[in-house]
Amino acid sequence: IGPAGEHRVKYANLTSGERVAGRGGTGAVLGDKNVKAIVARGNRKPDIANPEKTKQLTKNWVAALRKHPFCGERLPKYGTAGLVRSMQKGHTLATKNFAAGQYDNYEAISGETLSAKYLIKNKGCMTCPIQCGRQVGRSGKAIKGPELETIGLWGPNLLNSDLQAIIEWNYQMDELGMDTISAAGCVAFAMELNEKGLWQSGLEFGVTDQIPQVLHDIAYRRGIGDELAEGTRYLSQKYGGSEFAMQVKGMELSAYEPRGAVGQGLGYAVSNRGGDHLNAGYTMIYEGLAMNVKPRKVQAKAELTVLNQNIMEAASAAGSCLFTLYAFVPGFLIKKPHSVISRVVNAVMASSLVAATLRLVMKANDKVLPIHMPGLPHSQLISAVTGMRVKFMTLCQIGERGYNLERLYNVKRGLTAADDRLPGRLVNELEDPQLPDSKVPLAILKRKYYRIRGWDQSGVPLAKTLRRLGLVLRDFLI
Ligand code: SF4
Repeated sequence: IGPAGEHRVKYANLTSGERVAGRGGTGAVLGDKNVKAIVARGNRKPDIANPEKTKQLTKNWVAALRKHPFCGERLPKYGTAGLVRSMQKGHTLATKNFAAGQYDNYEAISGETLSAKYLIKNKGCMTCPIQCGRQVGRSGKAIKGPELETIGLWGPNLLNSDLQAIIEWNYQMDELGMDTISAAGCVAFAMELNEKGLWQSGLEFGVTDQIPQVLHDIAYRRGIGDELAEGTRYLSQKYGGSEFAMQVKGMELSAYEPRGAVGQGLGYAVSNRGGDHLNAGYTMIYEGLAMNVKPRKVQAKAELTVLNQNIMEAASAAGSCLFTLYAFVPGFLIKKPHSVISRVVNAVMASSLVAATLRLVMKANDKVLPIHMPGLPHSQLISAVTGMRVKFMTLCQIGERGYNLERLYNVKRGLTAADDRLPGRLVNELEDPQLPDSKVPLAILKRKYYRIRGWDQSGVPLAKTLRRLGLVLRDFLI
């Protein structure tokens, strides 16, 4: 952990080399326990049940990822920042503390600009064929470059188009050990509080000279930094403005403005972790990033959210990067988004027929549906590595079990259905006054979501749901 963790900044992170476990304030937890670092060592190789099959499957998987237009082209070429243009187009690029979803100067901070002006080479996690990370130039030295969330939230969300400055702040926040997403959310909120005369923080949209000092002050809890270190929820409780405090369950939202992607909005609201795009289920992938499944319509969104949350939960539990999951979207939908077939697929995906089918499929098990899903070799690899019999439905159920366990833990800690919410701005105000459906119809989506999950109206898993999942902990946990 860095100084932010040592000073228990609520969004301090853990760093391993250049990779960061950014969200949830784990750095503050370690800081609170006086733990500076965790060292692991060992020289035993893991036992693999079927080494030959594992090798072959891995080879095929790497080849498929390299051929895929999202995993093998866009991410390696532009990094995650390569999504900026799609977000601008879909009104999902959070701008001015989520007051809007588009930013006029978006090209200045796009992945294309980052690559053209600053990229030295790609750098990512060990053995990964995607290598979405960036090494960028700074005073003749190669340093880690920013990714999409950092660029979006320190760029458009603060009305800032200085990419060089974002590169500097990103590096500084890594050195200080703090989550770039939550830090940006706090600064944007402080700017709006200042603008509305609710807190004289001295911070203004579009004025960024003082940002390096503010970051330092947050990490060391000096001046206004001491209050910013407590997070957006704390600030809204003290100074007001909860309707534009962009947090859920105390966690600041990621860079996707959900009024242009209502499934993502539902995900933010019900996410066990809070305002995090990944634990939310990242339905953004269907709602404008890789596909275009009617982003402002509710049809099939609760179903897709549950399905994605479960699959992502299982992939995480298996130690697999979530970006490997997006090879599931057929390449032609990404390469030719306006072709007749792509338009038909997107329309069908948003139909009640697909919604009903998904609900049915999610109730199935490997006996009823004994398949591995094309594009998702995770279940095959888990089988080859562990020797367990895992097909696609078991993978989904592993994820579902994890998601329900997290929910039970939250319930035990006092969370209720009222915590599955979004800031008022996102559900009451139109993102674009010309678009009457440009807000998140959360009440409808949430009702459907609870039903599909097998939770009661308070968002608590029903006993029969837990029995189906083999979780017999309900009485113990609640
Ligand atoms: S494992 Fe994931 S995060 Fe790491 S470089 Fe590869 S795609 Fe990027």
